[in-house]
Amino acid sequence: MDRIFDKKGYLSEILPAYEFRNEQLAMSAFILERLYESENGVIEAGTGTGKTLAYLIPAILYCLENDKKITVSTETKTLQKQLIDKDIPIVKEIFSTYFNMDFSFSICLGGSNYPCRMRFEAVLRAGKVHAGDLNKFKKISRLFNSREIFTNFDLNLPAYLWDEIKREGDSCNAQRCAFASGCAFQMARRQWGQSHCLVMNHHLFFANIASGKTYLPPFDIVVFDEAHSVEEIAAAQIGFNLGYRELLDIVNRFRGDTRQSLIQNIITNERLRSRCIDSIAKVIPEINAFYEDMRKLMPEGKNSIRIRDRVASGNQLIELLKECMTLMAEADRGIDDENPWRTEFDIARGKLFNYIESLASFVFQHNANYVYWIERDSDTLFGDVSLRGQPVDVSEIVNREIVTFYDSSIFVSATLAVDGDFSYIVKRLGIEHHKMLFLESSFDYKIQAVLYIARDIPDPADGAYNEQASTHAAGIINLLKGNCLMLFTSYKTLREVRKIMSGLIDYTVYSQDISSATDALDQYIKHENAVLMGTHSFWQGLDLHGDLVRGVIMMKLPFAVPDSPPVEAKMERIVAEGKDPFYGFQIPEAVIRFKQGFGRLIRSSTDRGIVAVLDSRILRKSYGKYFLKSVPECRIVHSIRELEETYF
Ligand code: SF4
Repeated sequence: MDRIFDKKGYLSEILPAYEFRNEQLAMSAFILERLYESENGVIEAGTGTGKTLAYLIPAILYCLENDKKITVSTETKTLQKQLIDKDIPIVKEIFSTYFNMDFSFSICLGGSNYPCRMRFEAVLRAGKVHAGDLNKFKKISRLFNSREIFTNFDLNLPAYLWDEIKREGDSCNAQRCAFASGCAFQMARRQWGQSHCLVMNHHLFFANIASGKTYLPPFDIVVFDEAHSVEEIAAAQIGFNLGYRELLDIVNRFRGDTRQSLIQNIITNERLRSRCIDSIAKVIPEINAFYEDMRKLMPEGKNSIRIRDRVASGNQLIELLKECMTLMAEADRGIDDENPWRTEFDIARGKLFNYIESLASFVFQHNANYVYWIERDSDTLFGDVSLRGQPVDVSEIVNREIVTFYDSSIFVSATLAVDGDFSYIVKRLGIEHHKMLFLESSFDYKIQAVLYIARDIPDPADGAYNEQASTHAAGIINLLKGNCLMLFTSYKTLREVRKIMSGLIDYTVYSQDISSATDALDQYIKHENAVLMGTHSFWQGLDLHGDLVRGVIMMKLPFAVPDSPPVEAKMERIVAEGKDPFYGFQIPEAVIRFKQGFGRLIRSSTDRGIVAVLDSRILRKSYGKYFLKSVPECRIVHSIRELEETYF
């Protein structure tokens, strides 16, 4: 590793702006050792350590030297693309230039990102192409004939069209499919099987586990980047999210009274057809009645409600849905494989089967390790609800399916430890047979950042808090002349503070309660000296360099909302284990989120700025020290006057 990462090493010859960092070298050596020892690794690498190359280089080198295959899993598709376009090509150049070694790598995406030739041909055969879409279909046809791997990122089709031709897992059977040899998805899978290095996101990684590891080819070692988000994504991917519209859409595909009806187009036996039509006609009012009951359970002004007992009103719906399934199975036996409606029929049946399985889990509260709840959908005007279920604790699953399954699993993030201690994340993810490494940020926070802590401010529960916190925030924003990010823990506080601050600052505010997170961020980047206000998604993942963020203002310490069903269930589990849920769950979760928020400020060695914490509990309460000791040391001030003197 020295020869690569040294001051005058190979990286310095390839990258003109390369800066030697002790932390980066230490991390790469640590990972190589874990892999050779077949151990697991947990690493916190503070911002600026160059963690991506520090795990890619030793991991790929180890795989090439030992004929192993590696998977790198990161949080989002954007980060996946960054690895593929920017970081892995650097590693490839190092290996080919200095070691005469080559390796192959692939990006892995979920199946619905790939087109399905069989569905495409079925749409053509059924004459379902609108005149306005003909050119798009010609382009897709050309791409299929080129036998290249392509996805909807290359096509950018409107959703209504993509839904008609995308791969559907329920209908895709390569053994039975006449188009499998030239299929983009099957070609991608063959490429994954031959690649040394696979790059995916955590959602796909855990969807593969939920599918019994049938989607991805086998591999030997895994590196989780952004490992702080593994637990949350694992629980959601393993669990389910059932929507009212989704069920109606599935059932409506079978209905007997439309031109596109599967029953009308596929079932030739008249008696069976009329039994199917009757069965669907009975189930639709039952779906409406059941979901109406679920909506009524949702208390006014709340976004979710925990379900702890069997939902009796679901029995009848499940019985009727099962009756539909039985009739469809009967119909299936009489359908020719060449029938152009066959694929759609298989897809709809598969979806209905999966829906019934999850609905039964929800209605009968099947799984003792699950938390079940009803959630109000934020993106519908009609107050629709979803039925949710997911594991309370994923540690056993992660331990069984990952930690003890692969040769080595490496967990990396800038925020895993609480005051230098990894025991929280190690327990939550069931990590064992491991070693840990804690690396400070490579940035000079004492020079680059000032921490402003409001001392004379009421407790966040006090009625005067919003008013006074807004005054502090406005003082900082006015001092910095905008370019500030304000982080909130609830929309309610965000809305109230935004209104108060409109009378205190003259800078344009882009806020997540007015537009989507993406739009608010886009607008903020385009407009100088603006203020960006956001909740959960803005605490992590925002990467705004230089002058784009001069100040990060955290309103309250980011404790998880205790009445959120997954949070409540986790806390109950900790109480049942005889432990204190505040110190065993809420503090470590909040500290990790706090570190994420803190990390939004300094993104490069030339950035400078102010982090403000407008929650005096960080000074008054005994737990405040966990927050303060978990972030890099920097100058602390308590008033705008001190800030003026220190910062300028
Ligand atoms: S193999 Fe699957 S995705 Fe490919 S064309 Fe056939 S059904 Fe579609």
